Amino acid sequence: MYREIFENRHVVMFIIDPATGEIVDANAAAERFYGWSRETLRTMRITEINALSPAEVQAEMDRARTERRKQFYFPHRLADGRVRNVEVYSGPVEIDGRSLLYSFVFDMTEREDVQRELATEAIKRRVLVEQARDGICLIGPDRSVIEANRSFAEMLGRELDDVIGMHPWEWDARLDTREAVLDLWPEMTHEAAIFETQWRRADGTLLDVEVSATPIEIAGERCVMNMCRDMTRRKAAEERARRWERVFDTAEFGLARVSTEDDTFLEVNRAFAEERGYTPGELVGQSLFALYPPERRESAAKHVRTIDKRGHLRFETEHWRKDGTSFPVLLEVATVPDAQGRPESRVVYAIDISDRKAAEVELQHVNASLEEQVRARTEELERAVTELTDANAQLVEANEVKSRFLRSMSHELRTPLNSIIGFSDMLLRELAGPVEDEQRRQLEMINHSGRHLLALINDVLDLSRIEADRLVLEWDDVAPGAVAREAFSAIVPSAAEKGVELTLAVGDELDDAVIRTDSRRVRQILLNLLGNAVKFTSEGSVTLEVRRAAPGMVAFAVTDTGPGIPVERHEDIFGEFTQHEHGLDPEERGTGLGLAISRGLAVLLGGAVTLRSAPGEGSTFTLLLPERTASAEESDENR
Ligand code: ADP
Repeated sequence: MYREIFENRHVVMFIIDPATGEIVDANAAAERFYGWSRETLRTMRITEINALSPAEVQAEMDRARTERRKQFYFPHRLADGRVRNVEVYSGPVEIDGRSLLYSFVFDMTEREDVQRELATEAIKRRVLVEQARDGICLIGPDRSVIEANRSFAEMLGRELDDVIGMHPWEWDARLDTREAVLDLWPEMTHEAAIFETQWRRADGTLLDVEVSATPIEIAGERCVMNMCRDMTRRKAAEERARRWERVFDTAEFGLARVSTEDDTFLEVNRAFAEERGYTPGELVGQSLFALYPPERRESAAKHVRTIDKRGHLRFETEHWRKDGTSFPVLLEVATVPDAQGRPESRVVYAIDISDRKAAEVELQHVNASLEEQVRARTEELERAVTELTDANAQLVEANEVKSRFLRSMSHELRTPLNSIIGFSDMLLRELAGPVEDEQRRQLEMINHSGRHLLALINDVLDLSRIEADRLVLEWDDVAPGAVAREAFSAIVPSAAEKGVELTLAVGDELDDAVIRTDSRRVRQILLNLLGNAVKFTSEGSVTLEVRRAAPGMVAFAVTDTGPGIPVERHEDIFGEFTQHEHGLDPEERGTGLGLAISRGLAVLLGGAVTLRSAPGEGSTFTLLLPERTASAEESDENR
């Protein structure tokens, strides 16, 4: 501050050592006024400048005291010998620990009274002007800046020295021509005015400025004093305030400002008041604790303390309406600090969360009932699973019992049956003596029934072994043609007896083919299929054709010209004890287990039995078995 005041160009200033009268420093204005360089002045004493004797100086100082003047009047000597009457304002100043004296010197010789007054004014204004945050400039009669403060220069983005002498049209966007300034000049110098304009700063940017122009007369000349305010910040602040006001008024949720001093509402918006059954006017000035019943006020006060301590808090609580009802509310409260950073007020955002709370309760209900449903359903399922498991265990158990029963019964039956068959054979061969015709007929019936029963028992045994996975297979490399021929020759007699034409065809492609299988079981299957074919074909032919089917599969196809089987029975003839008699003699009747056994065996051998048949078109039963291939060999060896 000292430097700023001291370095100004227009007021002569000294710093003097009061003890010795030595001039410690003088400013540029002093150099100009006295005509001595600053260096020279600093070697001088103030008594050398004052034209009065020390006694006269003392006399003037006493006079000033009695007249209660702050200023002294002295004649001062200039370098060129001239003497000027000056007015001196003096006072103590402490600089770098030294107690010194400052002196402001105003030349009175030329300007006399008016000037003196102006100068007095000037010194006061100087201090104000330099302190001011607003830009201040004085436009002289030639329309140029004759004086300005630092703020003014800063607003223009220039040095203080550079703005002296500038014309308004060089920076003012509104008064941007000399003519505009000249046109306005008479008005400006007669009437104070406030206007907004934009300034072009040194760097080309624009600045919003409010100018307060006051006409001022200096030494009979009309001048204009401009007080200039940077509006950028105020504009932004105004804009913000305007926006905040709009938000505040129209917000759908509650907004309020509460004093930190006495916890009263400073402002509330319509939503805040109405949600609580008040008008905004009724709430302003009321304590915020009016929104809580007495027993809740202590806990509300606790929240308030936390907010002031932390500066911010978000919490859920309940607010009471004027009519005594209450509702859940989400509060977000932040303190607003004053210029010193102390909390001055609290801004409250209040959101009615009744809907959300209701939804939460509803959701809880739904959740609870869902949980209940899930629990009940799970129980039901668990029960069903237990029942099924039990049933399954029972089934497995029953099946096991059945198989065991069949196996043991079959063994029990086979022994006596073999005796019956054996002894009836002996009797028929008359080893025990001659047999009459009628006796022979009856013996043959015994023998036949015995054999049938034995076949049945053998089949049942086979099937129960297959089902229980107890059948022991004897694996071997088998040539498909060979096994087919064996089965074929076994059936030749019965076909011949029935007069059915029999054909075997083995594909050349199978000459070197090998199947890894149990040849006895393959024969059993083929015999069963061929036996059925011959049995159910009264006239016509039966063919066994062996060929390569799908890649890696050998097909043994037994085709007859018999009655055929309707499609809907294709599956169940493979079941146990299913027979469709086609009017056969009792002796020709099978056990009803042949196809079930054949399919079961084929599956055990890694193959299948398929059927193509329709009534009147004969039937083709095909046994498919996997061919032994190189890759199959590998996987065999890997076993
Ligand atoms: P079965 O001991 O009765 O022959 P299968 O299981 O071998 O028992 O056959 C079941 C039934 O399938 C037979 O009773 C018959 O109705 C029918 N069936 C089997 N093969 C033929 C075929 N080649 N032609 C017509 N029907 C057949």
